[in-house]
Amino acid sequence: MTDIQKLKGIGPKRAGLFHRLGIYTINDLLLDLPRSYEDRGQPVDIAQLQDQDQKALRVSLVSLGRLAYLPGRRTIQTGVFADPTGTIKVTWHNQPYLKRNLHIGDSFYLYGKYSKDRGGMANPRMKKFQADNEDKVRKDFLNILPIYRLTEGLTNNFRIRTIKQVFAKNHPIQDYLPEALQAEIGSLRDCLLKVHLPQSSQDLEIGFDQIRLRRAMDEVLLRRLVAQDRARSLGPKMRQVDLTPFLNQLDYDLTPSQEEALAPILKDLLSPKPMNRLLQGDVGSGKTVLALAAAYLVMANGWQAVFMAPTEILAHQHLEKAGPFFQKLGFPTYLLTGSSKSQERKSIREAAKAGRPGLFIGTHALFTPDLEFAHLGLTITDEQHRFGVRQRESLQEKARLPNSLVLSATPIPRTLALVEYGDLDMARIRKKPQGRPPIPTYVVDGRYEKRIYTYLKKKQARGEKAYLVCPRIEAGDSDLDYWSLERVEERVRKFFGPASGIGVLTGQMDPEAKDRVMEDFQAGRVQILLATTVVEVGIDVKDATSMVILAADQFGLSQLHQLRGRVGRGDLPSICILLAHSPSKSSIERLKVLEATEDGLEIARKDLEIRGAGDRFGTHQHGLVDQSLVPVSPADRKAGTDLFTKLYGGVPSLDQVPLAWRKRVVASYKSLASFNRN
Ligand code: ADP
Ligand code: MG
Repeated sequence: MTDIQKLKGIGPKRAGLFHRLGIYTINDLLLDLPRSYEDRGQPVDIAQLQDQDQKALRVSLVSLGRLAYLPGRRTIQTGVFADPTGTIKVTWHNQPYLKRNLHIGDSFYLYGKYSKDRGGMANPRMKKFQADNEDKVRKDFLNILPIYRLTEGLTNNFRIRTIKQVFAKNHPIQDYLPEALQAEIGSLRDCLLKVHLPQSSQDLEIGFDQIRLRRAMDEVLLRRLVAQDRARSLGPKMRQVDLTPFLNQLDYDLTPSQEEALAPILKDLLSPKPMNRLLQGDVGSGKTVLALAAAYLVMANGWQAVFMAPTEILAHQHLEKAGPFFQKLGFPTYLLTGSSKSQERKSIREAAKAGRPGLFIGTHALFTPDLEFAHLGLTITDEQHRFGVRQRESLQEKARLPNSLVLSATPIPRTLALVEYGDLDMARIRKKPQGRPPIPTYVVDGRYEKRIYTYLKKKQARGEKAYLVCPRIEAGDSDLDYWSLERVEERVRKFFGPASGIGVLTGQMDPEAKDRVMEDFQAGRVQILLATTVVEVGIDVKDATSMVILAADQFGLSQLHQLRGRVGRGDLPSICILLAHSPSKSSIERLKVLEATEDGLEIARKDLEIRGAGDRFGTHQHGLVDQSLVPVSPADRKAGTDLFTKLYGGVPSLDQVPLAWRKRVVASYKSLASFNRN
């Protein structure tokens, strides 16, 4: 592995910048593909420009404003360009030197994003041309530009120069595929060259076809590895237990949907293979009771069960419900959170170590190293999508998960990928228990703010409660600031006046203060809960009927769906209003997915599709999701399998492929599966 510092122009300082992106070797550099491309295409007419278009223009400069100096050594310069169809305003920020090179009448190619609001383009890329060099300029300027991940101090141009150097120097690129396969689909070097430095859109097409095939073959091998691995592992053996005493404790019957989802869970527990299962069911579909049924079976078999919630509030809620319930059935429950006193901790530690059956409810504090379960038979992870990366890591270190059941309405990409690759089975509760009408959802823009407050006031007068959710807590300095909790609070308090019944809930508050606000909200002393996304998680207030989310386009679709699930929990009709900060078509369309469906799984998949796969020329949110989490298409998978059949007579086992390839597949399996498996 050659260090990037071997390249010209990369000393310790620049290398440090690359390290920040996780790039240490030339190989890393090659495998860090562009996150998108700027395909400038052919220039369009000014008259054709639509809001938010990213296009090239062929124009000439018709006027130039004065260079304005702003506080903080900032400058603004404006100019107007024209083509035969119209004119466009261009604004340059902090480029005082430009003026010297701009002369009325000069011709340019421009490329930038057109904003109708701002009435033009800001800081477009530009290239001057004359009649005698236009052909050359045009060819250079209108090429396909790879856009890389960057960090402060590292420019896209530098990254392009670096990659050019690697190819120019004929740096050896090790291909992990056997030669016979390289002969079929092309070498890694060819493929990377086309993707890093495409000469045409055809290059890109071919390059990405090759990459997709490679990914497809990786995935086929991965599936085989997963299946082998799961076939080998053994879990605790449980015997059939009569669930009647448990079911008799409920004040309702399980719905057919719940029964259908419970069946495979029980079957998993009774089989000698460890359970590794996702229970997917929409918010309010009644997942908890199924998880508790599984815990009951496990405890009745003499094993311990763990029920993990992402927040203390939620852990408390679970304890309140499950505690008395299991007490009647003869099983103890314990609660362990970050704020448990050391005395409690000690007794819980002892109970865990003693190995007697019981249900241990808590937050990820349950996975501190000093807590040892002598006889752990089941781990339930509630609202799995809410666990942060670090929490997942600590789980991974600690957990020997014998049987694992994870609950989520909107599984995260990694979880969806695990299901796809066969590492995680899925049970679904398809229908909610009766009496839960759909929640009409409306997407509106910023102009509706006042109307929303008026509406909330009316609801308040009728004794109904509302959530008002903001994206951030403190006022920063962007235009999103307007929707920060602080600023919204000022406006809302002014609008509602004193004694207004408004409560504030943020993640930063200490647990007691949080509890107090939640109690006030439950009891009705507070009717409007102004909050950040802390309310996203399973809070259950029956007479809350409005969910208003401000700057909703700042949230993921899954997250919005979760928030929406906080209302519609009682008998009163509820609604959800999503106020978009950006009026752009794409952000409104994204939000409209929620208007159209209430199926959490579909929303989670859409979220992944929009953020992850996207199209290569898409502009926003690219690279947010690790591409390895996006399963390949069935057609690609078939193509990959066909190639294997052609060369190996079938899907090879891992020890039939070259070592480098085997290592690659095993590594991706490890990183993918680290959350759910031992
Ligand atoms: P989620 O799937 O979002 O975790 P919960 O498990 O919290 O949903 O269930 C939501 C509510 O539905 C709870 O108050 C629960 O008691 C109730 N519930 C669950 N199953 C049924 C059922 N079969 N009939 C009626 N109510 C049910
Ligand atoms: Mg729940």
